[in-house]
Amino acid sequence: MTLSHTASILDGIEKTPDILVPAALPEGTKASLAGLGRSEISEKLAAIGVPARELRMRTGQLWHWIYHRGVQSFDEMLNVSKEMRGILDQNFTLARPEIVSEQISIDGTRKWLIRMPPAGPHDKGAEIETVYIPESDRGTLCISSQVGCTLTCTFCHTGTQRLVRNLTSAEIVAQVLIARDRLGDFPGAVRPTDGLVPDAERAVSNVVLMGMGEPLYNFDHVRDAMAVVTDGEGLSLSRRRITLSTSGVVPMIERAGNEIGSMLAISLHAVRDELRNELVPINKKYPIKDLLEACRAYPGLSNARRITFEYVMLDGVNDSLKDARELVRLLNGIPAKINLIPFNPWPGTKYQCSDWGRIEEFSDVVFRAGYASPVRTPRGRDIFAACGQLKSETEKLRARARMMLEEGIGAEGVYALGSGED
Ligand code: SF4
Repeated sequence: MTLSHTASILDGIEKTPDILVPAALPEGTKASLAGLGRSEISEKLAAIGVPARELRMRTGQLWHWIYHRGVQSFDEMLNVSKEMRGILDQNFTLARPEIVSEQISIDGTRKWLIRMPPAGPHDKGAEIETVYIPESDRGTLCISSQVGCTLTCTFCHTGTQRLVRNLTSAEIVAQVLIARDRLGDFPGAVRPTDGLVPDAERAVSNVVLMGMGEPLYNFDHVRDAMAVVTDGEGLSLSRRRITLSTSGVVPMIERAGNEIGSMLAISLHAVRDELRNELVPINKKYPIKDLLEACRAYPGLSNARRITFEYVMLDGVNDSLKDARELVRLLNGIPAKINLIPFNPWPGTKYQCSDWGRIEEFSDVVFRAGYASPVRTPRGRDIFAACGQLKSETEKLRARARMMLEEGIGAEGVYALGSGED
């Protein structure tokens, strides 16, 4: 990079003739600061010649504007001198990844197809999906941690898309920024009038790592991203309002508790290894017994911080009452909540959703054993935004899948139950 001497670029800083700043970079090659952690921002500032003694203060200023205020232009950073704003603008942007499309479901759920900046001349830019699920008093953002997934859970649409790559921590954070931009969720911003936005102080009150990918296979980036999202001087989301969902990467569960400290959800879906090997193939490596041992040892586990076990209801596959009783037996002693998820169909799947009567009977067995057993309301099925339906390629609906989808939307009994999360 070409460096040129600049004397007095930094407001409030003693003029230093030796400060080095890079020449302005061409448009399109400038790095975005949006999504970066504190140390990464400091490094970027150091690279343009901000003296070491000023880095903390400058990083704090940028942090406030980027994450607390959500600004997208350096010009809005009113406590930064005009000269410094110019230098920042010459070298960086506050750009977010591109929103390729936004779909709004009949129930108000939104799904964004997001394209990351191309990594090189032959890269189109990886695409991921992020889903916003509003309720009357809160809004949950379901974010992705990988582009595609290496795990091939047979009930999950994402599992049919090969892994393209891990998302960086900035790309994970950017999903939260994009949602808050679109939902008018920064101070002074205006809420959209289409779709549904809760009548609450925060449009995005909860985050779940349940989108595309296995978050514990991208541990460092997920941990660093959650540090940004939970920072009290920025996006300021409580760790208790973040839920990390894993298919069961047993060796990483304890680290997740210690280093991320979020709530934990386990994609369980079966109570026998033979069936779980098929539904959630990582079970062959980390069987149910090992998984539950790791859950019992999850740091911070208590009745106030229960683990959520997700159980997708597949007709004739895992929905017998014997399965329900075994589920209760397996979870004995673990502070737990069981989320029953009516299966959300997708093109080409071989599964069907259990009928409503069976879901109720299953839920009763779990409830009588003392577990909260909410049935998660399917949301956004009409735009393929529901649990397990995310896939970034656009595919034509096959006739059978379309039929199943229509049946699902008509299942008013399911909708009437309300959300399964607290
Ligand atoms: S359920 Fe999660 S871990 Fe399994 S294939 Fe889908 S995205 Fe991957």
